[in-house]
Amino acid sequence: MLLKARKMKPPKITFARDDDPTPRKSVVGVRKVDANDVVTGTITSPTIQGYWTHWWNDRTVPHIVGEKLCKPCLKFIPMRWAGFIHLVGSGGGKGVFIELTQTARDRLLACTSKEEPLRGTIVSVSREGRRLRSPLVFQVLGRHHADEKLIRSPDILPTLERLWGLAESA
Ligand SMILES: [Zn+2]
Repeated sequence: MLLKARKMKPPKITFARDDDPTPRKSVVGVRKVDANDVVTGTITSPTIQGYWTHWWNDRTVPHIVGEKLCKPCLKFIPMRWAGFIHLVGSGGGKGVFIELTQTARDRLLACTSKEEPLRGTIVSVSREGRRLRSPLVFQVLGRHHADEKLIRSPDILPTLERLWGLAESA
């Protein structure tokens, strides 16, 4: 029996090569920008990802479309838009998401280039007048060097599921 096993041909092996794997479904933190914060990093997001939400029972809940009825809508709670960009600092790592209001979105788009992609823009994010509840302000500091590898923007859905409490109920 042993002799027979030795004579068997080894199986042909093909390594599954992939130089750019799909990022794992990891939860990336949403960075709160405090009054005296200055968050600097490179935007990895190709676009701002926006969602409709409601402020309901002292928290943000997503506006649901599809099979389920949206409970806050039935109670005439107004919708609020929330947008997200992903930033990675010079130190690397998995970076952070920054939540944008509509005002913040307009400001970001007003100060970034129309000709060049959003991804690769280096920005600093802070609060207007260093006040906690004031809108975010952005300063474009430059562009990511094309020859340096910039990480792929992570999928925001696992983060939103956690943030909006959908992970437990789903
Ligand atoms: Zn709704």
